[in-house]
Amino acid sequence: MAYDVVIIGAGPAGLTAGIYARSKMMSTLILESGTVGGQLVALYPEKGIHNYPAYENIQARKLSDKLYAQAESLDCEIREHQKVIDIIDGDQKLIVKTQDNEYEANSVIIAIGMGEFAPRKMDAPGEAELEGKGVNYFLPLKEHLVGKKVVLFGGGNSAIEMAMVADTVTETAIVHRRPEFRADEINVKNLNESAVKQYMSCSVKSFNGTDKLTSITLLDQDKKEIEIPADLAVINIGITADLGALTRWGLDLTENGLVKCGFDMSTNRHGIFACGDVVDYPGKYKQIITGCGEAATACLSAYKFVKKPYWA
Ligand SMILES: Cc1cc2nc3c(=O)[nH]c(=O)nc-3n(C[C@H](O)[C@H](O)[C@H](O)COP(=O)(O)OP(=O)(O)OC[C@H]3O[C@@H](n4cnc5c(N)ncnc54)[C@H](O)[C@@H]3O)c2cc1C
Repeated sequence: MAYDVVIIGAGPAGLTAGIYARSKMMSTLILESGTVGGQLVALYPEKGIHNYPAYENIQARKLSDKLYAQAESLDCEIREHQKVIDIIDGDQKLIVKTQDNEYEANSVIIAIGMGEFAPRKMDAPGEAELEGKGVNYFLPLKEHLVGKKVVLFGGGNSAIEMAMVADTVTETAIVHRRPEFRADEINVKNLNESAVKQYMSCSVKSFNGTDKLTSITLLDQDKKEIEIPADLAVINIGITADLGALTRWGLDLTENGLVKCGFDMSTNRHGIFACGDVVDYPGKYKQIITGCGEAATACLSAYKFVKKPYWA
């Protein structure tokens, strides 16, 4: 049986596409290479999201849970650990291939975000040796922070927001290599009004400890050493992404290496649409709300493509 639509990726864009597809009664399958939730669950589960309408503040993993529950309530089929490796033109159908399966589809929506992503590392002495022993790339659950000295690294919104989360339960510091943060004014204001200790214009000389992290040596702008005690370092300096699949799938890309789409979120390939962080256009803003908006458009376009309603 061919699905009306196969959606690749179960981040917020893919889940929203699934919700819209099921609302149109399309037979729908979402394939996810890891587990449901995308960046929200993999990169910042504990962070609060303040800019998703209807929630003053919601933890990232809870927002993802809600999207997941809504998709499931509409009988959207979701298969985890199914990494899509190819999309082939079949006889009037598209064949979506994963490592161990093939699925027939009348249309496809690509919502793979940044593809396979991993947190960016600092490559500082001691970092690799102490990874998982106090050096971390995402903020653990709040209850695991209590009583620990937590040090956040980074100057963007997420590093600040994670520091603010940690500050509610334990002693927290933030280290940034520049003199100013690269974050929303509201976050900087909240940080300045909190008890989080700030080390600005500082780089890392080393993460110290044998079996576990015990301290971090920083270098200030005058190259003076500062040693701060630490039980947990959380490094939040960006992510590296692998979007090589897009070229292999024969998609037209922008100069940023992301998918070029029409206004209806169609790609250059017949029956294939895209949405979310994987898509690029002038003025693109990579946010949950924009990805979900694009997903609604991509889904309606897939619906028109597959069902060919008289009004379309
Ligand atoms: C630290 C941080 C904080 C952020 N904070 C906010 C915020 O407060 N508010 C906000 O609006 N936005 C925020 N964002 C941005 C937001 O997370 C993204 O815009 C959003 O996650 C994009 O959703 P997506 O569904 O397009 O992609 P993703 O969330 O990246 O999901 C894509 C999914 O596709 C899967 N996938 C990849 N390749 C394949 C494949 N070949 N086969 C099958 N599945 C595949 C991935 O495993 C992933 O689950 C933040 C981002 C970061 C990094």
